[in-house]
Amino acid sequence: MRRLQRLLLSILILCGLVPAMAWAKLYVATTTEDLAALAREVGGSFVEATPIARGYQDPHFVDAKPSYLLKLARADLFIQVGLELEVAWAPPLLTNARNRRILPGNPGFLDASEGCEILQKPTGVVDRSLGDVHPFGNPHYWLDPANGRIIAKRIAERLAAIDPSHAEAFQTNLAGFEARLTKAEKTWDALMAPLKGTKVVTYHNSWPNFAKRFGLVVMNHIEPKPGIPPSPGHIQTLTAQIKRERIPLLLVEPYFDVKLPEKIARDTGAKLVLFPPSVGAEPEIKTYVDLFDRQFTLLRQALGLSETK
Ligand SMILES: [Zn+2]
Repeated sequence: MRRLQRLLLSILILCGLVPAMAWAKLYVATTTEDLAALAREVGGSFVEATPIARGYQDPHFVDAKPSYLLKLARADLFIQVGLELEVAWAPPLLTNARNRRILPGNPGFLDASEGCEILQKPTGVVDRSLGDVHPFGNPHYWLDPANGRIIAKRIAERLAAIDPSHAEAFQTNLAGFEARLTKAEKTWDALMAPLKGTKVVTYHNSWPNFAKRFGLVVMNHIEPKPGIPPSPGHIQTLTAQIKRERIPLLLVEPYFDVKLPEKIARDTGAKLVLFPPSVGAEPEIKTYVDLFDRQFTLLRQALGLSETK
């Protein structure tokens, strides 16, 4: 039956009765590799998804290259993390790409934060005077699979709105992704069980959702506030805290200079782990599930619980 439909469609296209677009893949441009990976999960073969920032880059600070404009100019759907994660570079790209379809308010614009659990939301007036790059709550919310599930669902709904002819396929793909994620979460919970309550210090404040979901305890950060370089006074206080509270792990996002974390590790005996916060942070992290797989491998290795390298 499907073959017959395709044959009929090709005849209609040849006759010029249906635009060739009906066969073209939807082109999805995302700010991060995590969002592109989720778009691929639900879009399957009907979608080409490409990220702007790579997983090994700091998503707060990305140099806007002219080639990014080409991605946005042809996009049917643009997806951003939001909460001002990309405020330094995405809005000017969106304006300059001259593609009305993906401007805020249109179906081609999707802010992935809506509907997700957002932690550390400010309670009072938003104050940027100190340069805090998390003014509207923590924007690293994709690091909880529950939020990944919500993002995938919203991408599937939006793809279906833009391309109703494949709505059924997007729903099927979404169901497949959700099933794989549920299965993986059982494995991760089992791997994490002996590590629950482990105290960590992280470079950037990237991990509240991850820590809440999997039971790590984030005691402090090398950055005194997100996006603010550490002062010698802060490092002195932090070093004393790591020693006093016997914090075993320093988790450092791979895009930060490791010189200072290495010194803190030497001075305190804490173990330094380059901890990937995104798909693409390492070449072998290709999917959303890969990302968590790798994180649990690294955590277990660092604490001597894994025999694998
Ligand atoms: Zn951040």
